[in-house]
Amino acid sequence: MNMTETRAVCIGGTGRTAELTLGGSSPVLIQTMWKEGILPVLADERALFSLLDKVEILRGLGCRLLRFAVPDMQSAEALCLIAEHCTMPLVADIHFDWNLALRCLEGNVAKIRINPGNIGNKERVKAVVDACREKGRAIRIGVNAGSFPADIAKRVEAKEISRAEGLALTAVREAEVFEELGFENYLVSVKASDVKETVEANEAFVKKCPHVPLHVGVTEAGPLIGGIVKSTMAFSHLLKQGIGATIRVSLSASPEDEVIAAREILSACGLYKGGIKIVSCPRCGRNGFDVHGFINRWEHKLLSMDKDITVAVMGCIVNGRGEGKHADIGITGAGDSVVIFKKGKTVRTIRHKDLNVLNKNADIAFSEELESL
Ligand code: SF4
Repeated sequence: MNMTETRAVCIGGTGRTAELTLGGSSPVLIQTMWKEGILPVLADERALFSLLDKVEILRGLGCRLLRFAVPDMQSAEALCLIAEHCTMPLVADIHFDWNLALRCLEGNVAKIRINPGNIGNKERVKAVVDACREKGRAIRIGVNAGSFPADIAKRVEAKEISRAEGLALTAVREAEVFEELGFENYLVSVKASDVKETVEANEAFVKKCPHVPLHVGVTEAGPLIGGIVKSTMAFSHLLKQGIGATIRVSLSASPEDEVIAAREILSACGLYKGGIKIVSCPRCGRNGFDVHGFINRWEHKLLSMDKDITVAVMGCIVNGRGEGKHADIGITGAGDSVVIFKKGKTVRTIRHKDLNVLNKNADIAFSEELESL
């Protein structure tokens, strides 16, 4: 499918947040969702600052937008408090009660995610749209199989149209409401938990509304490994066609894992620029260095660094240095030692007998060499 450039949607630029653009010629941005309730921030300042610290960790890993569930008015208050202090644009996830959206928009919440299908009549949708227009905020229309209007649900049930077609039709209908209201600062998501359905629904929507930027996701994708596999298959297919302004990998796992997965998918598709790339071996019986332990200790640290380099982590010299010789820096087991190399040349050798149980010496030496790059 030949993709035309979508409209650009502006997000942020209020409070402490910088303005971001989704769609148009902007890079695909990563987002995730907060997985806990946020009411504790209303009662305890330490909870607020701890949450803000975690947001910074997510930013370091590549996250640019963060969504929070807002199930009640107190959560809306809590999100406004977080948005007052947070430098990342925040998204309020609203179902059923449009008043929650209006309350969030009194604060610095950058975007509202609503499902018009469960917000109620058009007057309520219009109230949210008017408030977003007045305050310069964005909206995502989130459509999934649970939100088919009755007539489309009937056609899907009768197998007159597929579920993917039903999703796309529903999204087009919702988008038309926003167009009639003259509001353009919105994105759409059409999500299913099935890869093929997600791909077909997004493609069908793009055929009808090529100018509307898409938030791409596979909903309820599953646990870490299964969810990443499904998301990768769907996203790579869509991203290759230029479909997707922002992505969320939805996993029964941490937000950090979601962000890393999204980043790796974008990177493999050639759509994530900069940052550290990690090349590591799976480890086998030849290993003279605990690759898994090193990756567990270093992955988040490395991915949070503002360096555009490749790091190789290999178990042994058999393949280690050869495979990793193009890396800017690498670490590998080598006989009775662990070797740190740069562009294939050894710069440090630490004997096994000098490694303590936590590999502290190797970590310190690696850290020093990394610092100098
Ligand atoms: S680099 Fe060495 S330890 Fe790692 S998988 Fe290859 S042969 Fe095994």
